[in-house]
Amino acid sequence: MSGPVAPVRGMNDVLPDRTPCWQRLEAIARDTLSAYGYAEIRLPILERTELFRRSIGEVTDIVEKEMYTFEDRSGDSLSLRPEATAGLVRAGISHGLLHNQPRRLWCAGPMFRHERPQKGRHRQFHQIDVEALGFAGPDIDAELILLASRLWRRLGLEHLRLEVNSLGTPAARAAYREKLVVWLAKRKHDLDADSLRRLKTNPLRILDSKDPAVQALVAEAPAITDHLDAGSAAHFEALRGYLDDAGIAYTVNPRLVRGLDYYTRTVFEWVTDRLGAQGAVCSGGRYDELVSQLGGRRTPAIGWAMGLERVAELLAGIDFAGVDDRPQAYLVSLGERARRAALLLAEHLRDALPGLRLHTHCGEASLKSQMKKADRSGAAVAIVLGDDESGAGRAAVKPLRSGADQELMDWTDLPVRLREMLESERR
Ligand code: ATP
Ligand code: MG
Repeated sequence: MSGPVAPVRGMNDVLPDRTPCWQRLEAIARDTLSAYGYAEIRLPILERTELFRRSIGEVTDIVEKEMYTFEDRSGDSLSLRPEATAGLVRAGISHGLLHNQPRRLWCAGPMFRHERPQKGRHRQFHQIDVEALGFAGPDIDAELILLASRLWRRLGLEHLRLEVNSLGTPAARAAYREKLVVWLAKRKHDLDADSLRRLKTNPLRILDSKDPAVQALVAEAPAITDHLDAGSAAHFEALRGYLDDAGIAYTVNPRLVRGLDYYTRTVFEWVTDRLGAQGAVCSGGRYDELVSQLGGRRTPAIGWAMGLERVAELLAGIDFAGVDDRPQAYLVSLGERARRAALLLAEHLRDALPGLRLHTHCGEASLKSQMKKADRSGAAVAIVLGDDESGAGRAAVKPLRSGADQELMDWTDLPVRLREMLESERR
């Protein structure tokens, strides 16, 4: 005999005691997205590896060391998606969704990155991903931020901070990058090994190094916001104006660069201090060149992704009033004949009262033990079928909360009477 099979490291099960929180979060997000005119798109989890190389960038952490990449049986190199934007753009191009019309789209599901698992950082995690394609902004940039902000309010999350930055056009960014490299090269002895490597490959990423000494150093470095092209500077200023008009608090963080190569102009992140080191709950930015880079017609676009594990963690302490998944009625049956009848009665009740939360006791047990389970389930009433009652097409209904008398009634009268009793037994 061998023991139980271990789960894969960094890949979590969401257990039934936590799924109500996830469902609530997903329902509020879906409702809010639809209210802003976003339509859902569902995408595969596997894409060609090339898609991520060409979009996220060759010298990013994700592509260099975090992707789950393998050859399938036909010899194609495929990867589990580490993020959703690339796949969504691929789908938009494949299906001609982006031709001469803007699109507001969202998708949700698991993402995969081979990172070091820790609190708030997993190898399979979930995102809701929101993308607006075909809009040059900056009004859409503001709207996407307002949408996220409304989501936090509806979820009851009040302590999230917004950071914004602009990365400019690719040309302006390249010019800034040269300046930054020169500045950093003069201070090489203050850089850690990781930053020294990045100095050659992806120097902008040094700006968001987690190393305190490097952080102190780059606080003095030239700021990208002082090196923007005129168009990007105007775009950024307009966005900040819209946010001010809407009363959205934010800070400009010139060191916010984001880990994917495809961003242009606006980038932003919602962060919290309540999750320890993994404080980013929602991150996004504009990617005006990505669609053309992936073979489509040039289409300005912007989007954000929210990390559901981190948001669910923030929601853990919040009581969602009005969410009640306890059964309303518990069906008890005594004896073989009654048990057969119970399944039919349950279906009859579900037909007559759609949405009724009815829990049937399956399996043999004494009346006492079944009534105890009915009580513990939180149900308002127990419906009791004995062999005698079921033969006569009757059932006994016992209120469990008010102490009111048990009533014996015909199956045909049961739905109407049950509804009345549930009204008066409402907890
Ligand atoms: P971080 O700085 O925490 O690594 P990121 O910049 O890599 O985040 P994005 O690629 O922008 O994150 O993904 C958007 C959101 O997805 C993040 O804000 C975060 O909430 C969540 N997220 C990213 N990576 C993970 C992970 N490994 N586990 C859980 N959530 C994650
Ligand atoms: Mg990351």
